[in-house]
Amino acid sequence: MVKGSYDVIVIGSGSVGIPAAWAMARSGLSVLVLERLASPGQGSNKAAIGGIRATHSEPAKIRICLRSLEIASTWHETYGDDIEWRMGGYSFVAYGKREAGILRGLLALQQASGLNIDWKGRSALLELIPALNRDGLLGGTFSPGDGLCSPLLLGHAMYVQACRAGAEFRFHDTVRGIEAEDGRVRAVVTDAGRYETPVVVNAAGAWANDVGRMVGLDHPITPDSHEGGVTEPVAPFLGPMIVDIRPSKTAANCYFFQLATGQVLFSLTPKPIVPGFDCRETSGFLPTVSKRMVALVPRLANLRVRRTWRGLYPMSPDGAPLVGWSSEVEGYLMAIGMCGHGFMLGPGLGEVLDRVIRDDLCDEDRAILDGLSPDRSFEGQAALK
Ligand SMILES: Cc1cc2nc3c(=O)[nH]c(=O)nc-3n(C[C@H](O)[C@H](O)[C@H](O)COP(=O)(O)OP(=O)(O)OC[C@H]3O[C@@H](n4cnc5c(N)ncnc54)[C@H](O)[C@@H]3O)c2cc1C
Repeated sequence: MVKGSYDVIVIGSGSVGIPAAWAMARSGLSVLVLERLASPGQGSNKAAIGGIRATHSEPAKIRICLRSLEIASTWHETYGDDIEWRMGGYSFVAYGKREAGILRGLLALQQASGLNIDWKGRSALLELIPALNRDGLLGGTFSPGDGLCSPLLLGHAMYVQACRAGAEFRFHDTVRGIEAEDGRVRAVVTDAGRYETPVVVNAAGAWANDVGRMVGLDHPITPDSHEGGVTEPVAPFLGPMIVDIRPSKTAANCYFFQLATGQVLFSLTPKPIVPGFDCRETSGFLPTVSKRMVALVPRLANLRVRRTWRGLYPMSPDGAPLVGWSSEVEGYLMAIGMCGHGFMLGPGLGEVLDRVIRDDLCDEDRAILDGLSPDRSFEGQAALK
């Protein structure tokens, strides 16, 4: 049974699908978002700890996130919702020459891509973050325009705006197939029925490969699980988000920040990574992450943890997303492989996707799409994954 006809159907109402639908509806496209879960942002979006940084090692991600930062930082004055935005900046700290070399080596590219970032020597960094452990500290980068907000609040606020702009959302509606005819997308089939459309956007996150197979394509996305946690609230003492990229035996990095409401939110990248869809919390996460955090900021030792959780990164082979039209199936647009950055990429990327669909690209969009092309060779790894 045909349930409707749309200019675009977005599969997934997560970090990317919600802002994409919002941008497209604002441009006057008729948009339907299909989501198998009960409400917006219930996939990986709600697992994110909420960091939004333009501090990346690829120009495409820097440019997209600069736009996301504009959207998040002006949300309250523009739309009136409190999304718990805080512009504390990000600091990638260096305790070893290797890390200092990597971070300093990226500065020229980051600055040339429009990012406000600089190197702070040891004393300047300690002035900025007095709670940092001084032993062995060499310095670190500081990007004052980066910040954080609540993924649940921003996701919901964008969903409300998308609905107001005319986007339709159907929850508890799992996409089972995509119909194509003569190599062109024609319709999407779900448990509830059939929806006609010439354009499908795959924004299915960690489940993107299932959607790819519906049009006969093999996407190189591998889900892996990451844990996060939150402490009790305390008086403000941490300005920027702190990121430590020193690899240890059990973790590739560690990052944490203090919310406007006082809680410290934290996460790390486990080593080795844990592939798969398992989202049960582990007993190993807290001992591992707390040791690293206390080593970096000793006064965290007395803080009590309230809760931990586990969610999925939709990983790509090189740590950068795959964004663009399929060269094999006309009307099939990929916005997949967001890795650990889907929440921060979402708002800026949504606008790019809208311009892709309306064929209204500017030079910057073309450069972004070139960098994130699904047909690239996937050589190398993003330095700040
Ligand atoms: C512990 C942790 C901390 C993180 N911290 C950050 C952070 O600070 N900043 C940041 O930017 N990112 C962070 N991330 C990463 C971020 O959560 C992801 O990159 C992002 O949510 C992926 O966005 P997405 O839109 O691709 O997927 P999702 O948000 O998961 O959305 C995909 C949606 O598609 C739906 N779907 C899938 N298949 C179908 C189907 N067949 N039919 C209908 N619906 C379907 C899913 O149910 C889901 O809701 C973190 C992740 C974790 C686990």
